[in-house]
Amino acid sequence: MNNYFIILAAGKGKRFGSKIPKQHTLYKNKPLFLHSVDTAIKSKLFKKIILVLDKVNAFKKNKNVDVIKGCNERYLSSKKALQYIKNKKVNNVFIHDAARPNFTINLLKNLKKNLYKNKAVVPYINTQSSTKYKHTNKVINIKRERVLLTQTPQCFDFKTLYNLSKKNKTLITDEATLFLNNNKKIKFIKGEESNIKITKKTDLNNSPTKTFYGIGFDIHRLVKNKKLYLGGVKVPFHSGLKAHSDGDVILHCIVDALLGALRKKDIGFFYPSNKNMFKNIRSQKMLAPVILLLKNNNFSINNLDINLICEKPKVSKLRNKIINSLANLMQINKNIINLKGKTVEKLGLIGKENAIACEAIVSISKYE
Ligand code: ZN
Repeated sequence: MNNYFIILAAGKGKRFGSKIPKQHTLYKNKPLFLHSVDTAIKSKLFKKIILVLDKVNAFKKNKNVDVIKGCNERYLSSKKALQYIKNKKVNNVFIHDAARPNFTINLLKNLKKNLYKNKAVVPYINTQSSTKYKHTNKVINIKRERVLLTQTPQCFDFKTLYNLSKKNKTLITDEATLFLNNNKKIKFIKGEESNIKITKKTDLNNSPTKTFYGIGFDIHRLVKNKKLYLGGVKVPFHSGLKAHSDGDVILHCIVDALLGALRKKDIGFFYPSNKNMFKNIRSQKMLAPVILLLKNNNFSINNLDINLICEKPKVSKLRNKIINSLANLMQINKNIINLKGKTVEKLGLIGKENAIACEAIVSISKYE
Protein backbone atom coordinates (compact mmCIF):
# COMPACT_ATOMS: atom_id res chain seq x y z
CA MET A 1 0.00 0.00 0.00
CA ASN A 2 1.38 3.37 -1.00
CA ASN A 3 0.32 5.95 1.56
CA TYR A 4 1.15 9.60 1.00
CA PHE A 5 0.91 12.40 3.54
CA ILE A 6 0.16 15.93 2.37
CA ILE A 7 0.87 18.76 4.79
CA LEU A 8 -0.71 22.11 3.93
CA ALA A 9 1.51 24.89 5.25
CA ALA A 10 1.16 27.69 2.74
CA GLY A 11 -1.51 29.81 4.42
CA LYS A 12 -1.26 33.45 5.41
CA GLY A 13 -2.95 32.93 8.79
CA LYS A 14 -4.80 36.25 8.77
CA ARG A 15 -6.36 35.64 12.20
CA PHE A 16 -2.91 35.04 13.65
CA GLY A 17 -1.86 38.71 13.33
CA SER A 18 1.89 38.34 12.96
CA LYS A 19 4.47 39.41 10.37
CA ILE A 20 5.94 35.91 10.33
CA PRO A 21 3.45 33.49 8.73
CA LYS A 22 1.89 31.25 11.38
CA GLN A 23 3.41 28.00 10.07
CA HIS A 24 6.95 29.39 10.61
CA THR A 25 6.48 30.70 14.16
CA LEU A 26 8.14 28.73 16.91
CA TYR A 27 5.97 26.30 18.84
CA LYS A 28 7.61 24.05 21.43
CA ASN A 29 11.06 24.99 20.14
CA LYS A 30 10.52 24.50 16.42
CA PRO A 31 8.60 25.99 13.49
CA LEU A 32 4.95 25.00 13.72
CA PHE A 33 4.88 23.06 10.44
CA LEU A 34 7.88 20.91 11.41
CA HIS A 35 5.90 19.12 14.12
CA SER A 36 3.63 17.56 11.50
CA VAL A 37 6.59 16.64 9.28
CA ASP A 38 8.45 15.00 12.18
CA THR A 39 5.43 13.01 13.41
CA ALA A 40 4.69 11.77 9.89
CA ILE A 41 8.32 10.68 9.35
CA LYS A 42 8.46 9.01 12.76
CA SER A 43 5.31 7.01 12.05
CA LYS A 44 7.01 5.23 9.09
CA LEU A 45 3.54 4.89 7.53
CA PHE A 46 4.22 6.96 4.42
CA LYS A 47 6.06 6.42 1.19
CA LYS A 48 6.47 10.15 0.85
CA ILE A 49 5.45 13.32 2.62
CA ILE A 50 4.40 16.23 0.40
CA LEU A 51 4.98 19.51 2.17
CA VAL A 52 3.11 22.44 0.63
CA LEU A 53 4.88 25.61 1.72
CA ASP A 54 4.67 29.32 0.96
CA LYS A 55 8.48 29.39 0.54
CA VAL A 56 9.99 26.18 -0.83
CA ASN A 57 13.45 26.95 0.54
CA ALA A 58 12.18 27.19 4.14
CA PHE A 59 12.71 23.46 4.58
CA LYS A 60 16.04 21.64 4.68
CA LYS A 61 16.23 18.77 2.17
CA ASN A 62 15.09 15.38 3.44
CA LYS A 63 14.71 12.16 1.46
CA ASN A 64 11.27 11.48 2.98
CA VAL A 65 9.83 14.85 1.97
CA ASP A 66 9.02 16.61 -1.32
CA VAL A 67 8.35 20.31 -1.02
CA ILE A 68 6.05 22.15 -3.42
CA LYS A 69 4.95 25.77 -3.49
CA GLY A 70 1.42 26.41 -2.31
CA CYS A 71 -1.38 28.62 -3.63
CA ASN A 72 -3.37 31.51 -2.17
CA GLU A 73 -6.25 29.33 -1.05
CA ARG A 74 -6.07 26.12 0.96
CA TYR A 75 -8.25 24.12 -1.43
CA LEU A 76 -6.05 25.13 -4.37
CA SER A 77 -2.91 24.03 -2.50
CA SER A 78 -4.56 20.70 -1.75
CA LYS A 79 -5.57 20.29 -5.39
CA LYS A 80 -2.05 21.10 -6.54
CA ALA A 81 -0.53 18.53 -4.14
CA LEU A 82 -2.94 15.83 -5.35
CA GLN A 83 -2.01 16.61 -8.95
CA TYR A 84 1.67 16.42 -8.01
CA ILE A 85 1.33 12.80 -6.81
CA LYS A 86 -1.24 11.59 -9.33
CA ASN A 87 1.28 9.54 -11.37
CA LYS A 88 3.02 8.02 -8.37
CA LYS A 89 0.80 4.95 -7.89
CA VAL A 90 -0.76 6.31 -4.72
CA ASN A 91 -3.34 4.16 -2.92
CA ASN A 92 -4.22 6.32 0.04
CA VAL A 93 -3.63 9.94 0.82
CA PHE A 94 -3.72 11.72 4.17
CA ILE A 95 -4.31 15.46 4.14
CA HIS A 96 -3.32 17.58 7.09
CA ASP A 97 -3.27 21.24 8.14
CA ALA A 98 0.09 22.26 9.57
CA ALA A 99 -1.78 24.42 12.10
CA ARG A 100 -2.51 21.21 14.06
CA PRO A 101 0.91 20.20 15.40
CA ASN A 102 -0.17 17.78 18.16
CA PHE A 103 -1.75 14.78 16.42
CA THR A 104 -0.29 11.42 17.43
CA ILE A 105 1.01 8.41 15.51
CA ASN A 106 -1.82 6.50 17.16
CA LEU A 107 -4.36 8.67 15.37
CA LEU A 108 -2.58 8.04 12.06
CA LYS A 109 -2.71 4.29 12.63
CA ASN A 110 -6.37 4.44 13.55
CA LEU A 111 -7.21 6.43 10.42
CA LYS A 112 -5.31 3.99 8.25
CA LYS A 113 -7.00 0.97 9.81
CA ASN A 114 -10.43 2.43 9.14
CA LEU A 115 -9.60 3.17 5.53
CA TYR A 116 -9.55 -0.55 4.63
CA LYS A 117 -13.34 -0.54 4.45
CA ASN A 118 -13.97 3.11 3.62
CA LYS A 119 -13.08 5.73 1.05
CA ALA A 120 -12.86 8.59 3.55
CA VAL A 121 -12.00 8.61 7.25
CA VAL A 122 -12.23 11.82 9.25
CA PRO A 123 -11.48 12.40 12.95
CA TYR A 124 -13.78 14.54 15.06
CA ILE A 125 -14.35 15.61 18.65
CA ASN A 126 -17.54 16.80 20.34
CA THR A 127 -17.97 20.27 21.73
CA GLN A 128 -18.20 20.91 25.47
CA SER A 129 -20.25 24.08 24.94
CA SER A 130 -24.01 24.37 24.72
CA THR A 131 -24.65 24.88 21.06
CA LYS A 132 -27.12 27.01 19.11
CA TYR A 133 -27.68 27.46 15.42
CA LYS A 134 -28.75 30.74 13.88
CA HIS A 135 -30.87 30.46 10.77
CA THR A 136 -32.17 33.72 9.26
CA ASN A 137 -33.82 35.38 12.29
CA LYS A 138 -34.28 32.30 14.38
CA VAL A 139 -31.86 30.73 16.85
CA ILE A 140 -32.42 27.08 17.71
CA ASN A 141 -30.82 24.74 20.23
CA ILE A 142 -28.74 21.85 18.95
CA LYS A 143 -27.92 18.73 20.91
CA ARG A 144 -24.20 19.17 21.37
CA GLU A 145 -23.45 15.45 20.97
CA ARG A 146 -24.74 15.82 17.42
CA VAL A 147 -22.15 18.47 16.61
CA LEU A 148 -18.99 17.08 15.08
CA LEU A 149 -15.91 19.27 15.16
CA THR A 150 -13.77 17.75 12.44
CA GLN A 151 -9.98 17.69 12.56
CA THR A 152 -7.09 16.78 10.33
CA PRO A 153 -5.34 14.54 9.34
CA GLN A 154 -8.17 13.17 7.21
CA CYS A 155 -7.49 10.20 4.98
CA PHE A 156 -8.91 9.08 1.67
CA ASP A 157 -8.80 6.63 -1.14
CA PHE A 158 -6.60 8.59 -3.52
CA LYS A 159 -8.55 8.12 -6.74
CA THR A 160 -11.90 9.08 -5.23
CA LEU A 161 -10.50 12.21 -3.63
CA TYR A 162 -8.50 13.19 -6.69
CA ASN A 163 -11.56 13.04 -8.94
CA LEU A 164 -13.67 15.08 -6.54
CA SER A 165 -10.91 17.64 -6.09
CA LYS A 166 -10.34 17.98 -9.84
CA LYS A 167 -14.00 18.84 -10.42
CA ASN A 168 -14.32 21.19 -7.48
CA LYS A 169 -14.41 24.94 -8.13
CA THR A 170 -15.70 26.16 -4.78
CA LEU A 171 -13.84 27.28 -1.71
CA ILE A 172 -13.82 24.50 0.87
CA THR A 173 -12.09 24.36 4.24
CA ASP A 174 -11.37 20.65 4.34
CA GLU A 175 -11.59 17.55 2.14
CA ALA A 176 -14.46 16.06 4.18
CA THR A 177 -16.56 18.92 2.77
CA LEU A 178 -15.87 17.63 -0.75
CA PHE A 179 -17.23 14.21 0.15
CA LEU A 180 -20.31 15.68 1.86
CA ASN A 181 -21.00 18.05 -1.05
CA ASN A 182 -20.99 15.04 -3.37
CA ASN A 183 -23.11 12.83 -1.10
CA LYS A 184 -20.25 10.42 -0.53
CA LYS A 185 -19.95 8.42 2.66
CA ILE A 186 -17.43 9.36 5.33
CA LYS A 187 -16.40 7.20 8.24
CA PHE A 188 -16.07 9.47 11.28
CA ILE A 189 -13.77 8.32 14.06
CA LYS A 190 -12.88 9.80 17.46
CA GLY A 191 -10.21 12.46 17.13
CA GLU A 192 -7.96 13.82 19.86
CA GLU A 193 -8.73 16.66 22.30
CA SER A 194 -5.05 17.61 22.25
CA ASN A 195 -5.08 17.93 18.46
CA ILE A 196 -5.86 21.63 18.70
CA LYS A 197 -5.67 24.09 15.84
CA ILE A 198 -3.28 26.98 16.37
CA THR A 199 -5.26 29.98 15.20
CA LYS A 200 -4.33 32.92 17.40
CA LYS A 201 -0.97 33.90 18.90
CA THR A 202 -2.23 33.05 22.39
CA ASP A 203 -2.74 29.42 21.32
CA LEU A 204 1.05 29.09 21.15
CA ASN A 205 1.47 29.53 24.89
CA ASN A 206 -1.01 26.96 26.04
CA SER A 207 1.36 24.03 26.25
CA PRO A 208 2.39 22.97 29.74
CA THR A 209 6.09 23.02 30.55
CA LYS A 210 8.34 21.61 33.24
CA THR A 211 11.36 23.63 34.31
CA PHE A 212 14.61 22.32 35.79
CA TYR A 213 17.73 24.06 37.10
CA GLY A 214 21.35 22.98 37.05
CA ILE A 215 24.47 24.32 38.73
CA GLY A 216 28.07 23.94 37.62
CA PHE A 217 31.47 24.68 39.14
CA ASP A 218 35.00 24.23 37.82
CA ILE A 219 38.53 25.34 38.60
CA HIS A 220 41.85 24.82 36.84
CA ARG A 221 45.41 25.78 37.66
CA LEU A 222 47.15 28.29 35.37
CA VAL A 223 50.41 27.07 33.83
CA LYS A 224 52.95 28.65 31.48
CA ASN A 225 53.22 27.58 27.83
CA LYS A 226 49.58 26.73 27.43
CA LYS A 227 46.90 28.61 25.48
CA LEU A 228 44.02 30.04 27.47
CA TYR A 229 40.49 29.23 26.31
CA LEU A 230 37.42 30.76 27.96
CA GLY A 231 33.93 30.02 26.65
CA GLY A 232 35.42 28.72 23.40
CA VAL A 233 37.38 31.95 22.85
CA LYS A 234 41.19 31.98 22.69
CA VAL A 235 42.31 34.70 25.10
CA PRO A 236 45.82 36.26 24.98
CA PHE A 237 47.26 35.70 28.48
CA HIS A 238 50.54 34.85 30.25
CA SER A 239 49.33 31.30 31.03
CA GLY A 240 46.78 28.69 30.10
CA LEU A 241 44.66 26.28 32.14
CA LYS A 242 46.13 22.91 33.02
CA ALA A 243 43.76 20.06 32.27
CA HIS A 244 43.27 16.80 30.44
CA SER A 245 41.38 18.82 27.81
CA ASP A 246 41.94 22.44 26.75
CA GLY A 247 40.92 23.47 30.29
CA ASP A 248 38.07 25.78 29.29
CA VAL A 249 36.53 26.34 32.74
CA ILE A 250 33.50 28.16 31.39
CA LEU A 251 32.52 25.37 29.01
CA HIS A 252 33.17 22.65 31.61
CA CYS A 253 31.05 24.53 34.06
CA ILE A 254 28.19 24.88 31.53
CA VAL A 255 28.38 21.18 30.62
CA ASP A 256 28.05 20.30 34.31
CA ALA A 257 25.18 22.76 34.83
CA LEU A 258 23.31 21.31 31.82
CA LEU A 259 23.92 17.73 32.91
CA GLY A 260 22.68 18.72 36.35
CA ALA A 261 19.45 20.15 34.96
CA LEU A 262 19.05 17.03 32.81
CA ARG A 263 19.79 14.85 35.87
CA LYS A 264 22.52 13.02 33.96
CA LYS A 265 25.39 12.85 36.46
CA ASP A 266 28.47 14.96 35.62
CA ILE A 267 31.16 15.81 33.10
CA GLY A 268 33.59 13.26 34.58
CA PHE A 269 31.10 10.48 33.94
CA PHE A 270 30.72 11.47 30.27
CA TYR A 271 34.38 12.30 29.64
CA PRO A 272 36.58 10.28 32.02
CA SER A 273 40.04 11.86 32.30
CA ASN A 274 41.70 8.43 32.23
CA LYS A 275 40.51 7.85 28.66
CA ASN A 276 43.05 8.91 26.07
CA MET A 277 40.39 9.68 23.46
CA PHE A 278 39.52 12.87 25.40
CA LYS A 279 43.13 14.00 25.80
CA ASN A 280 43.63 17.62 24.67
CA ILE A 281 40.07 17.64 23.36
CA ARG A 282 38.60 21.09 22.65
CA SER A 283 35.83 21.65 25.13
CA GLN A 284 33.22 22.59 22.51
CA LYS A 285 33.40 18.93 21.52
CA MET A 286 32.33 18.06 25.05
CA LEU A 287 29.49 20.59 24.95
CA ALA A 288 27.99 19.62 21.57
CA PRO A 289 26.67 16.14 22.57
CA VAL A 290 25.03 17.65 25.66
CA ILE A 291 23.26 20.29 23.53
CA LEU A 292 22.07 17.46 21.27
CA LEU A 293 20.83 15.53 24.30
CA LEU A 294 18.79 18.60 25.32
CA LYS A 295 17.26 18.94 21.88
CA ASN A 296 16.47 15.26 21.52
CA ASN A 297 14.62 15.38 24.82
CA ASN A 298 12.59 18.46 23.82
CA PHE A 299 14.32 20.81 26.25
CA SER A 300 15.06 24.43 25.60
CA ILE A 301 17.37 26.70 27.58
CA ASN A 302 15.65 29.62 29.35
CA ASN A 303 18.71 31.39 30.69
CA LEU A 304 22.32 30.92 31.68
CA ASP A 305 24.17 32.95 34.31
CA ILE A 306 27.93 32.63 34.72
CA ASN A 307 30.46 33.87 37.28
CA LEU A 308 34.03 33.83 36.03
CA ILE A 309 36.25 34.06 39.11
CA CYS A 310 39.73 35.43 38.38
CA GLU A 311 41.93 38.41 39.02
CA LYS A 312 42.80 38.67 35.30
CA PRO A 313 41.96 38.69 32.42
CA LYS A 314 39.34 41.42 32.78
CA VAL A 315 35.90 40.02 32.01
CA SER A 316 34.48 43.36 30.83
CA LYS A 317 36.84 43.30 27.82
CA LEU A 318 35.95 39.71 26.90
CA ARG A 319 32.28 39.68 27.72
CA ASN A 320 30.79 40.24 24.25
CA LYS A 321 33.19 37.84 22.56
CA ILE A 322 32.52 35.05 25.06
CA ILE A 323 28.75 35.55 25.04
CA ASN A 324 28.68 35.49 21.23
CA SER A 325 30.78 32.33 21.24
CA LEU A 326 28.51 30.62 23.79
CA ALA A 327 25.34 31.62 21.91
CA ASN A 328 26.85 30.09 18.79
CA LEU A 329 28.03 26.88 20.46
CA MET A 330 24.78 26.35 22.36
CA GLN A 331 22.53 27.50 19.50
CA ILE A 332 20.68 29.95 21.72
CA ASN A 333 19.94 33.66 21.69
CA LYS A 334 22.71 35.70 23.29
CA ASN A 335 20.10 37.73 25.21
CA ILE A 336 19.55 34.82 27.59
CA ILE A 337 23.23 34.59 28.59
CA ASN A 338 24.82 36.65 31.35
CA LEU A 339 28.51 36.68 32.23
CA LYS A 340 29.82 38.29 35.42
CA GLY A 341 33.43 38.83 36.43
CA LYS A 342 34.41 38.31 40.05
CA THR A 343 37.80 38.99 41.61
CA VAL A 344 38.87 37.57 44.97
CA GLU A 345 40.71 40.52 46.53
CA LYS A 346 44.05 38.97 45.48
CA LEU A 347 43.48 36.11 47.94
CA GLY A 348 44.72 32.57 47.48
CA LEU A 349 45.58 30.72 44.29
CA ILE A 350 43.07 32.66 42.20
CA GLY A 351 44.12 36.01 43.65
CA LYS A 352 47.75 35.30 42.73
CA GLU A 353 46.75 34.44 39.14
CA ASN A 354 47.59 30.78 39.61
CA ALA A 355 44.09 29.51 38.90
CA ILE A 356 40.76 30.44 37.31
CA ALA A 357 37.40 29.22 38.59
CA CYS A 358 33.91 29.44 37.19
CA GLU A 359 30.38 28.79 38.35
CA ALA A 360 27.17 28.76 36.32
CA ILE A 361 23.50 28.18 36.75
CA VAL A 362 21.14 27.24 33.97
CA SER A 363 17.38 26.86 33.62
CA ILE A 364 15.83 24.55 31.04
CA SER A 365 12.22 23.73 30.15
CA LYS A 366 10.59 20.75 28.58
CA TYR A 367 7.32 20.85 26.69
CA GLU A 368 4.89 18.10 27.56
ZN1 ZN B 1 37.45 21.59 33.87
